[in-house]
Amino acid sequence: MWSSELASAGVIQPVEFLAIAAHPDDVEQTCGGALLRMAALGHRTGVLDLTAGDMGSRGTPELRLREADAAARALRLAWRGNLRWPDARLENTITARMTLAAEIRNLRPRVVILPYWEGRHPDHYRASEIAYESCFLSGLRRLDEETPPHRPSQVLYASLYANVKPSFVVDISAQFERRMEALFCYESQYGDQPDASSLFPGRGEIRERLAALARFYGNLIGVRYGEPYVVKETLRIDDIGALGVRSF
Ligand SMILES: [Zn+2]
Repeated sequence: MWSSELASAGVIQPVEFLAIAAHPDDVEQTCGGALLRMAALGHRTGVLDLTAGDMGSRGTPELRLREADAAARALRLAWRGNLRWPDARLENTITARMTLAAEIRNLRPRVVILPYWEGRHPDHYRASEIAYESCFLSGLRRLDEETPPHRPSQVLYASLYANVKPSFVVDISAQFERRMEALFCYESQYGDQPDASSLFPGRGEIRERLAALARFYGNLIGVRYGEPYVVKETLRIDDIGALGVRSF
């Protein structure tokens, strides 16, 4: 377990919003905007990455963790940790679920943000499944005697790359630039390297792709940049006159 010096005070402070992701640099693409918005409202936000991206062609795990720390500051996270599970080989085992459930009991998030449950990269959908099952497990009183049970009340799925109709979109117009800044903290992944330009897209290309996606989702709700989410539950609305989107 590696955790950012943001948490080096010793005892882990609970976070209200926790994103769980397979790789460092996942949240910076898919849910960093919403985390920034929640931090701006005064909530404690955190990220738990399951792997250090050690199968990536560029950089080393140690470098990725340092970059993740810099990105955590850009995202104004109160806490960031990394379980250092094997990249590209995530497995949903009882050991994995017990480890993650223990983290959830320590961090006590009210809302967790998970990767969408289908995708091209096996780590992403497996991380989603392991995390969902761990959230359930962590609510069982008898899981261990040391820590009190805790179950998040809400699971949100970050669906940016899923090409599915989102349940809702968060307006991240004011957070988009900072989210890009957080992503570019991963210099080993997104630094412009002319020798490998045919294999790895440069910053301009990455920025254009993410801006296009954010513009697409923003357009669905009538704002500049948006970040899409799926929930499995039906949303409850108290005021039908305040949906925040227009039909015409
Ligand atoms: Zn990833």
